[in-house]
Amino acid sequence: HNYIDHATPEKVQAAIASDDTHAHIPDYEAFAAYRDNGGYATLASLRESGNWEDVQDKILSSGLRGLGGAGFPSGKKWGFVRMNDGPRYLAVNGDEGEPGTFKDRYYLERTPHHFLEGMLIAAWAVEAETCFIYMRDEYPAVLRILATEIAALETAGIVAPGYIDLRRGAGAYICGEESAMIESIEGKRGMPRHRPPFVAQVGIFNQPTLVHNVETLHWVAKICRDGPEVLNSVEKNGRKGLRSYSVSGRVARPGVYLLPAGSTILDIIEASGGMAEGHVFKAYQPGGPSSGLLPAHIDDVPLDFDTLQPLGTFIGSAAVVVLSDQDKARDAALNMLRFFEDESCGQCTPCRTGCEKAVKLMQQESWDTDLLEDLCQVMGDASICGLGQAAPNPIRLVMKHFADEIKG
Ligand code: SF4
Repeated sequence: HNYIDHATPEKVQAAIASDDTHAHIPDYEAFAAYRDNGGYATLASLRESGNWEDVQDKILSSGLRGLGGAGFPSGKKWGFVRMNDGPRYLAVNGDEGEPGTFKDRYYLERTPHHFLEGMLIAAWAVEAETCFIYMRDEYPAVLRILATEIAALETAGIVAPGYIDLRRGAGAYICGEESAMIESIEGKRGMPRHRPPFVAQVGIFNQPTLVHNVETLHWVAKICRDGPEVLNSVEKNGRKGLRSYSVSGRVARPGVYLLPAGSTILDIIEASGGMAEGHVFKAYQPGGPSSGLLPAHIDDVPLDFDTLQPLGTFIGSAAVVVLSDQDKARDAALNMLRFFEDESCGQCTPCRTGCEKAVKLMQQESWDTDLLEDLCQVMGDASICGLGQAAPNPIRLVMKHFADEIKG
């Protein structure tokens, strides 16, 4: 791939066109159609006479939380960023690298302007000088769509040329970690930073930076246009809101399903057309490999933020992978650790060496569970970022729920 030091939509489009022959551009709602349906009217009226705190109140009352995985209340972030003097930046984390997650791509390939308008509303709220979009380079169609639509926004005078800076991701999972993404945007190797200070205080080029996930911004636009009820009026199993589950594995119809946040794994399998023919439900990954695996009998828990914590896991980016009687949980967990071993940035020993050791131990017919637990403890306690801290989850959950698979 060509390296783009300071990407304009034209440069990105030229680079993509020069090295990609596979991008199939799906039908999507382009600028003219979005604007004809009332798009960008909300942004225009906010820019004209809006009060950012009123918008923040709406976002807070909708219950919107960061949909990249961390689940931090979105409106609160705006306040933290605004507390710091400018210039401020906005960075969109579009590096959707969590295995099994493809919801951001789903929205970007269909309704990219919901996301773009949401981003411009958030940028207005924190008075951002520039919006950086850090987009997964493995999504060539999305890059083309965004380059085209950003150019349309510039032509229409909605943004100044260069205000939206589209960056191609570096092909590393760790660049989806927000501080590593910021390092990468600055042109450095993507390695997570120590915190504090948080990126809301010291972000891109040491300036206060608002970081949002793509889907979060998609909902910001909808909430501003249709009210907080689009999320907070939906209730199921005591949970409010909606969740975009990326569902794959042994189901009949893998895909993205927008369901109530109180949905259980059985609801999700049902929405996905049931189990694939000839497969019996055995286990599931609730939210990306960092969340590990739960057994099929834990089937009544809403897959939402906070609900899975007592079970030693979390919902993350809602990447649900369903396993069947034809899969081994230990093999799936080994696969997850191999992935972490490959993707560890290598700057801290508990993660760099710990993932490698864990893979070796997990390849043995009979697992040395005491030694693995020691390793999990060190990795969880002493790793710098979420990759190393959460890597023990698949190991611990297999030892707890699938002990029969790991005896010699
Ligand atoms: Fe890098 Fe792993 Fe340390 Fe995170 S935990 S900073 S990925 S070595």
